[in-house]
Amino acid sequence: MFIEPNISKIPVGWIEVICGSMFSGKTEELIRRLIRAKIANQNTLIFKPSIDIRYNHTDIVSHDQKSLPSLPVNQARQILDQSQDAQVVGIDEAQFFDSELVDICEQLALQGKRVIVAGLDMDFKKQPFGPMPQLLAIADYITKLHAVCVICGGVAGYSYRQDPNKEQVLVGEKDKYQARCRTCYHL
Ligand code: ADP
Ligand code: MG
Repeated sequence: MFIEPNISKIPVGWIEVICGSMFSGKTEELIRRLIRAKIANQNTLIFKPSIDIRYNHTDIVSHDQKSLPSLPVNQARQILDQSQDAQVVGIDEAQFFDSELVDICEQLALQGKRVIVAGLDMDFKKQPFGPMPQLLAIADYITKLHAVCVICGGVAGYSYRQDPNKEQVLVGEKDKYQARCRTCYHL
């Protein structure tokens, strides 16, 4: 005879992914969700890759200067090691992490945690970026945000690089990148 599992005894975690181009509001949205979790008295932790020190060595900071303290880590594995007591785990700039991040997020969710991941879905060549495709595949909830195209004012889904450097990873700001729509990306 099939015995129904007592699901009320199983901690339920899940994975939310916030994606989009540069300037689309991913960090703002991550901060908004984490502040609301804090208001609900939930134990929150935020991680970002050490490589991202554009505004601040520790905080996550949006282009609009909203910020929250975070823990910079070099490898995705460190997120698992440091999240034991957290109920909500936020991860910004997920595209810069190694592919192990996918399994780490799955494990955190299995432990009953709410995992909120923000990252660029595509690089400046419109190619899928780092572990983001797999994270989008395993996510329970996905939010795709858009910026404003700086050329025509339309809906921007792409991060256009103004710098001649062709490496996939080039940390930068408006000096190096522009949000552009599908048409203006090719101008
Ligand atoms: P992301 O993390 O996606 O790069 P942020 O959350 O850091 O984006 O910043 C979003 C903010 O960037 C917006 O609220 C706005 O103030 C600012 N911003 C600057 N350029 C643009 C643009 N082209 N389109 C939309 N927002 C922009
Ligand atoms: Mg951001």
